[in-house]
Parts: sequence; structure tokens; C-alpha cells
Amino acid sequence: MKSIIQTRVHFIELTDGQNLVLVDGFSYKWHKAVKNGRRYRCVKTNMCNAHIYLYPDGTLEKQVHTHTHKPNTYKRMASGKYFKI
Ligand SMILES: [Zn+2]
Repeated sequence: MKSIIQTRVHFIELTDGQNLVLVDGFSYKWHKAVKNGRRYRCVKTNMCNAHIYLYPDGTLEKQVHTHTHKPNTYKRMASGKYFKI
């Protein structure tokens, strides 16, 4: 039985078409497929090493490293897409 970290994972689409994953306010973009699912890395790749692994069903497997910055804030538009504030 796998242990699931009880964190809310949100899949969002930005108004510019980017698809991101939001976990606790931090945003991640798809990096690559891995053995047990998918690896996503923090969008601030030039300053932050944090990344996450998701199982194929979209639940969080683990989070690696802590962020070197504050969470991002996104506003949900009427279209259902998100806009970075
Ligand atoms: Zn980060």
C-alpha cells in the first residue's frame, strides 16, 4: 500500500496556455516521466530546486527540497483559466 501525502494537488491552465500543477500554493511545470509517474519542477527553475513526483493518478508521491521563495498567487478567471498575479 502506498502512502499518500495528504496535500491538495491542483491542475491548472494559465491564460497563456501553460499547464501547471499547484501544491500548497507553489506551482510546478511538467519535467519528465519517471518510473512511478511524473516529475514536475518548480516554475522558478533559475532560483529554486524544489520538485515533486506525482503518481499516474495525480496524487502526490513526494516533494523534494524546500522552495527558496514565497508561493505564487494566481487569480481564477471567468474562463476557468488562471492568471499569475
Ligand atoms: Zn520553488
